[in-house]
Amino acid sequence: MAEYSLWVLEYATSPRVDMGDIVYGARGQGTRPMPYAYVVLQSRDHVAMVDVGYNHVDFGATLAELYDTAHWHGPREVLALCGLAPEDVDTVFITHAHFDHFGNVDAFPNARFYLAAREIERSVWALSLPERMQYPAASIDPGDLIKGTALARAGRLKLLTGDKEDVLPGIDLHLAPDTHSFESLWVHLRNDGRRPSSDGWVLAGDLVYAYENIGGTGKGAEAGQAYRPVGFAMGSQVNLVLASEAMLKCVDYERRRIIPVHEDKLKTMFPSRQREEGLAITEICLADGAVSRIG
Ligand SMILES: [Zn+2]
Repeated sequence: MAEYSLWVLEYATSPRVDMGDIVYGARGQGTRPMPYAYVVLQSRDHVAMVDVGYNHVDFGATLAELYDTAHWHGPREVLALCGLAPEDVDTVFITHAHFDHFGNVDAFPNARFYLAAREIERSVWALSLPERMQYPAASIDPGDLIKGTALARAGRLKLLTGDKEDVLPGIDLHLAPDTHSFESLWVHLRNDGRRPSSDGWVLAGDLVYAYENIGGTGKGAEAGQAYRPVGFAMGSQVNLVLASEAMLKCVDYERRRIIPVHEDKLKTMFPSRQREEGLAITEICLADGAVSRIG
């Protein structure tokens, strides 16, 4: 029995990302297209999202151009792919404070947000460093931190200092300090409501960019290759390996149950529909009785 439908919604795309950013040590091994996407989880009682993308204005647009990102679509158009509107969203889990994940909170007026406390604290710290030390602030839009502060003041931002079980029924949040970002958050959906779950999914944020990062798409602890951590990271590769192991353990080492939103292959591994460049829906699973949004 599946309680939630799960869709990955692509909202923009970057045609050429250096393999060195995707896989640690792979600099000079070519480029790959990288979709930008967020995740919708819909049950009978909730519409939740993992990340909200960015808004293509102001510094968000500047950063997007820096990363060669194109074909941006706003959340009203994107959420319509699964029959929803931004106002329907009641809960949002922000995996980390990079602009393409945290950059459009104001488009979701009825949502309550979750983010790691240390992620936002260290992001402010990173921005305070001198120009020559700005690498840790790459991908951070100061405007997003200001909007986050306003949400906190309005009682709509919950800042986590540890893991949180059953934040919504069947959904656990886990923190991964000093990995891709200062304190990334990953989401474990137990879609049968059980613990341990035999129908689990992990929304990995940028802890995983591509399946190479977690040893491919095979099943079983010994089936895959060694983990090769993401290249673009603020913390350590050791911590990324440990986070990969923690995520895979949750899904009994069935690697396709780890969902990396930037993985270009995702839309060929699951049923999907591409409307135009930068606008696609991938249907990871359907709740019992829910209507497919593909085809
Ligand atoms: Zn990121």
